[in-house]
Amino acid sequence: MSSVHADPPPPIVTEPTGINYATGPALGKGGFAICHRAERYDGSKPTGHLVALKIVKTKMEPAKLAQKQFVSELQIHSKLAHPNIVAFYRAFSFQTSTYVVLELCPNGSLADMLKKRKQLTLPEIRRFVIQICGAVKYLHHRHIVHRDLKTGNLFLDENMNVKVGDFGLAALLVTEKEMEVKRRTTMCGTPNYLAPEILEKGKGHDEKVDLWAIGVIAYTLAIGKAPFHATTKEEIYKKLKSGNYSWPELSATTNQSADLRDLVASLLVPEEQRPLPDQIVSQTFFKIAYVPASIPSSAREKTPTWP
Ligand code: ADP
Repeated sequence: MSSVHADPPPPIVTEPTGINYATGPALGKGGFAICHRAERYDGSKPTGHLVALKIVKTKMEPAKLAQKQFVSELQIHSKLAHPNIVAFYRAFSFQTSTYVVLELCPNGSLADMLKKRKQLTLPEIRRFVIQICGAVKYLHHRHIVHRDLKTGNLFLDENMNVKVGDFGLAALLVTEKEMEVKRRTTMCGTPNYLAPEILEKGKGHDEKVDLWAIGVIAYTLAIGKAPFHATTKEEIYKKLKSGNYSWPELSATTNQSADLRDLVASLLVPEEQRPLPDQIVSQTFFKIAYVPASIPSSAREKTPTWP
C-alpha cells in the first residue's frame, strides 16, 4: 500500500455537470488516495460549501486490485445516509483521476485526537461509542459489514460528532466464497482491531467483527494503546488467539472505570457472545453517568472539564 501520488491537484476540478471545486490544502493520504479540502463553486461563484475531495489516480499501480476495491467502496458508500457516517456526495472521473466528493470532517480522526491527548475522558468515550454504535446498527441493518473500524477511520465533523468513513474494506454480505477471496486479497494494515475469528480460515466475515472492533476502540480511547498491542504482527496474533488482555493498574492518571472494563469485556469475547449495538449502549457504562450533549473542538488538544 504505497504509491499514492503526491503531485498537487489541479487548482480547479470540474465535474461533467459543470460544477467546479477549488482545491485547497491536503487533509491526508490513505492507501491509494489523497484527500484535499475543496470549495464548491457555482460557475465562477464560490458557494462557501466546503467538502473533502478524495483523489485516486486511475492509472497508478497496483491498478487492478485498487480499482476493484475502490469501485466496491463507492457502490457501498453512495447508498448510505446516516448522521454518524461520512456523507457521500458524488464521484466522477476526469482525465487520469477519479474524484470522490465527501462530507468534510475538519476535526481530523479519533486517532489524531488520541495522539495529542493520549487518553480521552470517560464522558467523551461514552458519547463517541454511542455514535459509533448508531452507525454500526445502521450498517448491519443493511447487511453491510465495515470490517475496518479503527480510530483512524472515525472522523470528526465541525461539531465533534463521529463520522464513520473509509469504506475500502466494507462488504455487503455476499457468499462465503466471495468473502474468503476478498479477505485474502485485502487484509493489510494494523491487525490491532482484528477479531480473532478472522485468523481462523473460513470464519470472521460477518457483522460480529465490527462489534469486536468497538471493544478495541473503547479500550484504546481510554488507555491510549490497543488491548492486544505488540510490536510485531505475529505477537499481536498470538495475543489475539489467547484472548488475554489486561488493564494498566488503576492510578490517578489511568482513565478507566469498572463499568468501562465491563463494557470492553462484554465485546472482547467469542463472536456468538458479543452484544448487538442496542445492547452495547444499554450497558451500565452509559446509563448512570454523564454523557455530554456536545464536545468542544478544543478537546482535540486539551482535556475538557465536565460537570
Ligand atoms: P484510503 O481509502 O486510500 O485509505 P482514506 O479514506 O483513509 O484513504 O483517506 C485518506 C486520508 O484523508 C485520511 O487518513 C484522512 O486524513 C483524510 N480524509 C479522508 N476522508 C476525509 C473526510 N471526509 N474529511 C476530512 N479528511 C478526510
